[in-house]
Formats: sequence, C-alpha cells, structure tokens
Amino acid sequence: MSKTIAILGSTGSIGTQTLEVVEANKDLKVAALSAGSNVALMEAQIRRFGPRLAVMGTEEAAADLRQRVRDLDVQVEAGMEGLLKLAVLPEADILVTAIVGMIGIRPTIAAIQAGKDIALANKETLVTAGHIIMPLAKEKGVRILPVDSEHSAIFQALNGEDGRQISRVLLTASGGPFRGRKRTELEKVQLEDALKHPNWAMGQKITIDSATLVNKGLEVMEAKWLFGTDLDQIQVVVQPQSVIHSMVEFVDGAVIAQLGTPDMKLPIQYALYYPERRFLAGERLDFAKLSRITFEEPDMETFQGLPLAFQAARQGGSMPTVFNAANERAVSKFLHRQIRFLDIYEIIRASMEEHRVVENPSVEEILEAERATYEFIENRW
Ligand code: NAD
Ligand code: MG
Repeated sequence: MSKTIAILGSTGSIGTQTLEVVEANKDLKVAALSAGSNVALMEAQIRRFGPRLAVMGTEEAAADLRQRVRDLDVQVEAGMEGLLKLAVLPEADILVTAIVGMIGIRPTIAAIQAGKDIALANKETLVTAGHIIMPLAKEKGVRILPVDSEHSAIFQALNGEDGRQISRVLLTASGGPFRGRKRTELEKVQLEDALKHPNWAMGQKITIDSATLVNKGLEVMEAKWLFGTDLDQIQVVVQPQSVIHSMVEFVDGAVIAQLGTPDMKLPIQYALYYPERRFLAGERLDFAKLSRITFEEPDMETFQGLPLAFQAARQGGSMPTVFNAANERAVSKFLHRQIRFLDIYEIIRASMEEHRVVENPSVEEILEAERATYEFIENRW
C-alpha cells in the first residue's frame, strides 16, 4: 500500500534518515518538507523527492529557496504558518515529526486534528503536551507511532499484548560519553567531548542531552505518555553497547526485548509501515562477535538530568515544560560556549524552583511557561 508523508525537519538527522527510507521504498511518497535554515540541502531534497510544499524557518531562507527552485512546481512558505499548512496537507497520510524542540507542538496537534497518523521523533512535544496529544489522538482515531529507538522497542515488544498487563518498562540507556565519570570530572569537559556519542550519530541538541542524561529523562516522560504507564513502572537500565533498545516486563515476569544494531532507520521504517515489517539493508547483530551485553544502574548523583526529570514529571502540569524549555535554552548556551557543562543542571534546577505549577496547561499556558522560563534564564545567565 502506498503512503504519502510530510516531514517536519527534513534536513536533520532523523529527517535525512527518513528520506533514506523513502529512497529504498518506492511506494512512499513525499508531499511536503520543512527545515530551519539549510536552504542548499532543502533544494536538493526538493529536486530529489518532488514535494508540493516546502517550509523554511524564516522568511529570508524561504525567499532564498524560492529563487533557487523557481523552475519547479513547489510552493515555498515560512515559519509557523507554513508548518501548520504542512501538517494538514490533504494528500499526506502521516506526519513525521523530526523537528527539534517545542516548536513541534502546534503542528503536531494540527495534524492529529486533521486525522493524520504521527511518526513521532520530536519527544519534546510529548513531554510538554502529552496530556493534550494522547487524548486527542484517541478521540480522532490516529496513531502515535514512536520513532525514538527505545519507544519503538517497547512498542515492538508490546505488539499484540494488552497494555494493562505491563508490569515494568525497562528503558535502556547507553550512559553517554561521560559514563563512569564523577561530578568533579565533569567540571571542565569541553563541547567537543560532549558531542562524541559512543554509539549514535544524532543532532547536536539530543547528543548533548545524551551526555547529561536529560535525554533519558525526556524519554521517561515520553514513555509514560505513549504507553500509559506510571512513573514508578519505568526503570532506566544502562546498557552501554546500545544493542538492547528497551524491554517490557509483563505481569507474569516474562521480559520481552527488541535487539539490533544501532540504526534509526529501523524504528523510522517500522513507524512508517506499521504493522508491516519490510526488508531493511544494514548490518545484522553477530552474537558471536558481540560476546557480551552488560548492565549498570544509572549514576543519578552525577547525571542529574535524570532525577530532575523524574521530579518534573512527578510535579506534573507545566513543570515538564519548564524542565524542557530550561534544558533547550541551556543546551543552546552550551553549544555557543556561553556556559559550562554542569551549568546545564543548574539552569534547569533554578528554572524549576522559580516556577509555580499550572495544572493541566493549555497550549497557550505551555507556551507561556516556555516564554517565562526563557526570560528567567536570560536575566540570570
Ligand atoms: P537535528 O538538529 O539533526 O534536526 C532538526 C531538524 O529540525 C532540522 O531539519 C532543522 O532544520 C529543523 N528545524 C529546526 N528549527 C526549525 C524551524 N524553526 N522551522 C523548521 N524546521 C526547523 O535533530 P535530530 O537529531 O534529527 O532530532 C530531531 C528530533 O528527534 C528531536 O526531538 C530528537 O530528540 C528526536 N530524536 C532524534 C534521534 C536521532 O537519532 N537523531 C533519536 C531519537 C529521537
Ligand atoms: Mg532514544
């Protein structure tokens, strides 16, 4: 069955790998693409995949792109208005949310309202607006198909099983580039060190989030929304080889895991074709060569991204938004070499302390909590 997709964030790590999956499967079509500022790559993608709509982050980038593709029949738009159009294009069956950050909230909601299935990579959206997105998806009868490797693994492990029989979700983590180090050893780590992930090549923001374990914290909240589990049912297990992508323990004690070489194309393709499995080229696990898979407990003293995330999730309401927004801003500052690695935790902690929780926040209240968090950080750092 042929499917038509639209992509939020087609020039990034998940976006380009999604297009590799499209290349390998002739029955996938691309209706629309969007990106922040990479006009050259967007032009190449338009020429290769022939979408009818392309959206850039700014008017300036859109004007440049329009000029470059004036020989083609493609509409070029900019900003949130463009993303909202992309989200509801009638011919698209599925929206791939490969954009980074809370900017994904409004287009994702618009797509669900228009009845599109969502292949969800953009975890920040679920972390901050899961209480709006999950019930809306249920009401509209659309599927939220996880692209995040851990959540895809859980989704695959659950296939055919009743969600209520889950006893625990065992969310695996690589531990990131600083696994095994203590807090004092993290005081002077450089940006370059934090950007060296041991197993996965990803966008810069999520790579830093993996080094702080904020990523795993966001994934705990993502799992809670996707699978309707309590926080106490989610356990993070460090598995440094990134071979087990996550596991589910059922009420009878059976544990089902999904294993594979670390390749995001597998969860992307699984989400696009669910419930079908297709051939995917790539390395297979060689258990003789692998010889061992090891496990550790996460070091919550050193990597405070994880306990802070649990705290934000327990406080609930608008607090996960503050956790996420503070982290987005802190990571951006770290990427610009304006703060040190451990300052990321301080910025998140101070922002959370400053915030008064709004229960069950609307999209406007979520965006207001984001804005207030940014303002607080700007005045202090
Ligand atoms: P990335 O930085 O590589 O790509 C982000 C994409 O969003 C780019 O195409 C960028 O142009 C686009 N974008 C940014 N600002 C925009 C704007 N204002 N308007 C339109 N487009 C804009 O990020 P990534 O690593 O691909 O991650 C994307 C999402 O997927 C994140 O939420 C991340 O947590 C999640 N995720 C990524 C991976 C991975 O392997 N990379 C794994 C699991 C989950
Ligand atoms: Mg992940």
